[in-house]
Amino acid sequence: MALPTSSVTLEHEINPWEAQSARFDFAARKLNLEEGLWKMLSTPARELIVHFPVAMDDGHIEMFTGFRVQHSIARGPGKGGIRYTPDLTLDEVRALASWMTWKCAVVAIPFGGAKGGVICDPKKMSRGELERMTRRYTAEIIDFIGPEKDVPAPDMNTNEQTMAWIMDTYSMHKGHTVTSVVTGKPLNIGGSRGRIEATGRGVMVACDESLRYLNMPIDDCRVVIQGFGNVGSNAARLMMEHGYRIVGVAEVDGGLAHPNGIDIHQLIEFKQRNGTILGFPGAEAMPSEELLVSECEILIPAATENVITSRNADRIQARIVVEGANGPTTAVADDILADKKIFVVPDILANAGGVTASYFEWVQDRQGYFWKEAVIIEQLETILRDSFEDVVRYAEAHNVNNRIAAYMLAIDRVAYTIKQRGIYA
Ligand code: NAD
Repeated sequence: MALPTSSVTLEHEINPWEAQSARFDFAARKLNLEEGLWKMLSTPARELIVHFPVAMDDGHIEMFTGFRVQHSIARGPGKGGIRYTPDLTLDEVRALASWMTWKCAVVAIPFGGAKGGVICDPKKMSRGELERMTRRYTAEIIDFIGPEKDVPAPDMNTNEQTMAWIMDTYSMHKGHTVTSVVTGKPLNIGGSRGRIEATGRGVMVACDESLRYLNMPIDDCRVVIQGFGNVGSNAARLMMEHGYRIVGVAEVDGGLAHPNGIDIHQLIEFKQRNGTILGFPGAEAMPSEELLVSECEILIPAATENVITSRNADRIQARIVVEGANGPTTAVADDILADKKIFVVPDILANAGGVTASYFEWVQDRQGYFWKEAVIIEQLETILRDSFEDVVRYAEAHNVNNRIAAYMLAIDRVAYTIKQRGIYA
């Protein structure tokens, strides 16, 4: 594709902003995107950096740095998660914000793309410190976010509780309860049914549709999943219940394999009890790196970025890769997978179930009327199946792989919206 393997160091290969830009430029070129629109869409619209104090438990004041980036708000309010990690960079937040623009456009929901986060190590902080940091970060970005402006959600190391604190802080400043300022909230304060497993469910829909497209049966289809957190464990559970055989689960501290399939209900219970999947009696231990390149029909990277790179892509044996995580495959690895004729369902389609359910949550909060779970599941699956169909048809029509097709479709939709609105330049 855009990056020749030999000239790219691993450092560049795994820079998320460069990874995003490589795909964007390639797709924009294919689309013959006008130069002005190209410039607009390759630059985030707004970037906010905040440095703020937090009172720590021992009484001393610590300074933290946070970000919120809105890549595009052309199609609606910004939408995107907030992550708490020690190695967070502005480039990473930019890339994730732009992925959100493309993801929302691929599934045609009325949001732009945004992302945020704070540089911190939540494992070393108490609950009180995390709450005070979240509230002060919210206060710092309060003019930037809002139901009509930019709607955050959970991401790495943030959860329902974090969203509840943000919602409460925002509401205190506004003087009334504003549930629709964030999604991914607890159910009794404006959360949506079906949100927690929505991304995993979307991953399963992407697998179902891939098999249908490639004329392969579900029964006994062997699946390896990397990451057994929200996305990976929910995808694994739903897929096992649906007839898939989960033959491998890879975690950060090691992996598990069983040729006849792992009982995912038991593994979820085991992990809840022990905090790890290691030592699970229903499977054999296997190093995680080996599992990624082991024999299976479907590989689901659902952990983190840059796990399929120039270092291992040529050894992947799966027929289908469904990207539950954001950015698991580098642009260089894309080429290698394409050469091997591996069918890739790209992140901006495969993991869009989460943001689609977030959209339902935002709509329900604004309506003040909450839907039954069956309605959520049906609407979610319809949107994801239609989007899959859009992407594979686009790929066929333009003779490109699914990732480039998804980018082209998304860029086209955003660019069309900007042109319809007119450029206020
Ligand atoms: P999570 O924190 O709940 O789970 C991630 C899991 O991956 C953890 O169990 C962790 O131990 C494991 N992990 C981390 N690094 C690993 C590695 N190198 N090898 C193997 N395992 C590793 O996070 P999540 O919400 O499941 O998100 C996973 C990915 O999916 C992220 O890229 C996230 O941005 C993306 N995503 C999540 C959602 C969502 O709704 N949660 C939506 C869209 C995309």
